[in-house]
Amino acid sequence: MLEDFIQELRRDYPGVRFRLGKKFTFRPPRTVIYEPFSDDASYKLLLLHELGHAVLEHLNYQLDIERIKMERAAWEKARELAKVYEVKFDEDLVEDRMDSYRDWLHQRSMCAVCGLTRWQNTDGIYRCPVCDEILSRQSD
Ligand SMILES: [Zn+2]
Ligand SMILES: [Zn+2]
Repeated sequence: MLEDFIQELRRDYPGVRFRLGKKFTFRPPRTVIYEPFSDDASYKLLLLHELGHAVLEHLNYQLDIERIKMERAAWEKARELAKVYEVKFDEDLVEDRMDSYRDWLHQRSMCAVCGLTRWQNTDGIYRCPVCDEILSRQSD
């Protein structure tokens, strides 16, 4: 049955490549990796989320905050796709996933030395307003 579902998606999205892998993932520019079939109730929805990234043509992101936005956008796309393919949209699952991204962002942005929230440069590197300031003064 899941096999049929993937075949249907392949037919409807000929520009997207669907490949079996270990975990649901999207690999820019257009490869959706799907997990081995399981009876997980959210299997189809997770797959539609990854397809959402592909349909929205998400590429790599420099900034973590952009990644969070992309995750949200891919879930909104998955919501539309879920209607089309008659898949149950699970709000709780989505909020859980978004929370884990928010936690991840919080972890990444916190300075390990002083605990302040750091900011991320456009080059993707985090800087602490206190510690990096001290470091740059010391190296003068
Ligand atoms: Zn995603
Ligand atoms: Zn610091």
